[in-house]
Amino acid sequence: MMNVVYISVGIVFVLMMAGRLHGRERARKRVIRVVESHCTGCRRCIKRCSHHVLEMVKDETGMQHAVVKNPDKCTACGDCLGRCKFNALELVERVNMRRNE
Ligand code: SF4
Ligand code: SF4
Repeated sequence: MMNVVYISVGIVFVLMMAGRLHGRERARKRVIRVVESHCTGCRRCIKRCSHHVLEMVKDETGMQHAVVKNPDKCTACGDCLGRCKFNALELVERVNMRRNE
């Protein structure tokens, strides 16, 4: 009986480690990007991101929209994507993000 418990705990541990490694690899390759022309400035993404990657700025017309303030902190988790109702967020390859800056 104890063997089953040890094996189960071992499997859970291995799956957790694999998940963490996968997350790090994903974060290394991808980053969030704001499609500013779609952004309404609703702030839903900013409230959702616990890593403080996004912030709100005003453009020259006085309109507010989100920008990526701390791209290095983005884990590419995608949580903010589910909050945006305006298709204003996308995950891109980090190389392309730098090209678009
Ligand atoms: S993908 Fe995750 S870490 Fe990156 S900005 Fe969105 S919620 Fe934050
Ligand atoms: S949730 Fe979408 S529309 Fe709202 S501020 Fe974020 S990017 Fe802009």
